[in-house]
Amino acid sequence: MPTDYLWVEPDMSEPLSKNITWTQGKITTEQRVRRTGFSGCVIWLTGLSASGKSTLATELERELFQRGRLAYVLDGDNTRHGLCSDLGFSPEDRKENIRRVGEVVRLFADAGMICITAFISPYRSDREQVRRIVPAGKFMEVYINAPLAVCEQRDPKGLYAKARAGVIKDFTGISAPYEPPLSPELELHTEQLGVADCVAAILARLDALFQATDRPPSPPALKSPA
Ligand code: ADP
Repeated sequence: MPTDYLWVEPDMSEPLSKNITWTQGKITTEQRVRRTGFSGCVIWLTGLSASGKSTLATELERELFQRGRLAYVLDGDNTRHGLCSDLGFSPEDRKENIRRVGEVVRLFADAGMICITAFISPYRSDREQVRRIVPAGKFMEVYINAPLAVCEQRDPKGLYAKARAGVIKDFTGISAPYEPPLSPELELHTEQLGVADCVAAILARLDALFQATDRPPSPPALKSPA
């Protein structure tokens, strides 16, 4: 079994509570990989609103699922209904939003899932912090790069119109900053490339990075416990 499947110790932050003790699980990552034939990873889509993150995330999830892989999408608008429903769009709240999601994707990936995220995640430092807590080589940053003018013209949710009218404050690209990735694993220009071609490009990169699109070996037959 290749040792690169083994997770490194996560770079955990110092907890506020002092009377807590880490519980060590009895199933290793290597055992999980042996069970399914695959290790988990994170595909982090970042870009302006309407650049295409959610569209590509859900298409990619469907494609991976059809290929027999475990994939799951975490979407910014969705997590703001639950896990992050107490957060707004100030710089501090955006940072906390990505910190929480980063912790979730780390767990998903550890459990063996291909975790696909669709978050604007405008700050480079926040994305880099997520990269740091995911084991080396298991984080793929994909810059969904469409010009602001194109995003504004698409405006599928009418948000740019509201931002221009001043109804929405702190809107990324209009009244709040977006820091593009400096060296993403992949960059996609969605004003030039169709959805199917974008998904194919992510799968090709994923294949190269994680050998993820290989067909899994047949899982062992389920046995009743002795
Ligand atoms: P985001 O999640 O980044 O806010 P959405 O996926 O919600 O963006 O919206 C992107 C819009 O752009 C959709 O209406 C989608 O159909 C359209 N679109 C056009 N070309 C592409 C492409 N190549 N990739 C993704 N979306 C595209």
